[in-house]
Amino acid sequence: MELRLYDTLSREKRTFVPLDPNNVRMYVCGPTVYDFAHIGNARPVIVFDVLFRLLRHLYGEAHVKYVRNITDVDDKINDRAARDFPGLPLNEAIRKVTEETGRQFHADVDALGALRPSVEPRATEHIAEMREIIERLVKGGFAYVAEDHVLFSPQAMNAANSSLPRYGALSNRSLDEMVAGARVDIAPYKKGNTDFVLWKPSKPGEPSWPSPAGITAEGRPGWHIECSAMAWKHLGEHFDIHGGGIDLVFPHHENEVAQSCCAFHRERMANYWMHNGFLQVESEKMSKSLGNFITIHELLKDWPGEVLRLNMLKTHYRSPIDWTMKSLEESAKTLDDWYRVAADVEPGKPAASVVEPLLDDLNTSLAIAALHSLRGSDVHALAGSLRLLGFLSESAAQWEGRKQQASGVDANEVERLIAERTAARSRKDFGESDRIRDVLVAMGVAIKDSKEGTTWEVVR
Ligand code: AMP
Ligand code: ZN
Repeated sequence: MELRLYDTLSREKRTFVPLDPNNVRMYVCGPTVYDFAHIGNARPVIVFDVLFRLLRHLYGEAHVKYVRNITDVDDKINDRAARDFPGLPLNEAIRKVTEETGRQFHADVDALGALRPSVEPRATEHIAEMREIIERLVKGGFAYVAEDHVLFSPQAMNAANSSLPRYGALSNRSLDEMVAGARVDIAPYKKGNTDFVLWKPSKPGEPSWPSPAGITAEGRPGWHIECSAMAWKHLGEHFDIHGGGIDLVFPHHENEVAQSCCAFHRERMANYWMHNGFLQVESEKMSKSLGNFITIHELLKDWPGEVLRLNMLKTHYRSPIDWTMKSLEESAKTLDDWYRVAADVEPGKPAASVVEPLLDDLNTSLAIAALHSLRGSDVHALAGSLRLLGFLSESAAQWEGRKQQASGVDANEVERLIAERTAARSRKDFGESDRIRDVLVAMGVAIKDSKEGTTWEVVR
């Protein structure tokens, strides 16, 4: 069966045909590193990790290249650095913020079971490529210099008589509508009110680099140009898949397409544009002011990363997801069970019943339903399929041990109490045996008696 993916640009599910099956190329917009990533940010990480794993399964590990950038130059980073390290020169403070946040991000996404991408380029290491693209855009008449800024003109792009895509095609908007809807208090140096920044001057003390297009003052890049430059450097002028959250379609991805296609005289930047839906928490938009803003880091204190991963994948990636405690508890129970039956068995080939829904535009909810069916019929295929989806990174004992640790339950103490209870039962002291059971329940431990003896587990 072939892989079919929903493409935001053509607004339909299309069969995936790679430009080169020996070098399948995917770019996903990564984090701006200034603070802990929240659980919404985990969604593209997990969704595109599943796609990465599926592509590796289909084309071979050596034939898939996945690039996810790190944006390490941004006003939010500067503000954070000035706030957190007021005594340090700004550039040093910025380095501290981006390094520390980058480390936290890696720790978080590793715990979610996400493979590291093939390349994780940093924006500040691609300034030369950004300057090069900007030079080309100015020469081609798509961009202009004004007051030490370089601006891209969507109007110039749409006026060009060529095979370029239409500005607005990806986000399905017309330029006229955008012009009409644009803010009126527009920066004076912009010729058109939909023009966007490719390069801007830096204030004293801010990170700065030699400017392109004959500007003498030093400056720094706009956000959109970063991704065009990094995708170009690592994947070429035209590649297979470009992904990110739905909020990035406009203006970020629309602008990326505009920059790359105009600089390289191409009809397309990527052949498939994929966007994950948004995540909200207990039916509300997640925001700092509502007090329901949850970081991955916080969640990982209460839940193993694979529980968060399963919980994310229960919903199809294009649908909105409602992140609830109830659903997390169910995901934890499911994984406890799968670990018990499948973590220590020899993994078989991933089942067709799991792979097929994945091939249909990553239908993970259907794939998970198939996993539930395999649970009762073929635990080897269950194990293989779970591994394909990035689960079962630990043994059953490690999983159980971590659960006990997280719950603060001391396994030796539990064993001691169970031995005491067994002794009480054998001398028919049922009062004492019930008392010990109550102690265990209060500790969060459930026990089960059978012919083979007493087994126990931590109930969350
Ligand atoms: P940002 O750091 O805001 O640029 O976001 C990084 C990635 O997370 C982007 O792909 C966003 O589209 C995605 N993202 C941000 N918030 C959410 C959310 N609440 N739900 C799903 N994806 C999100
Ligand atoms: Zn991007």
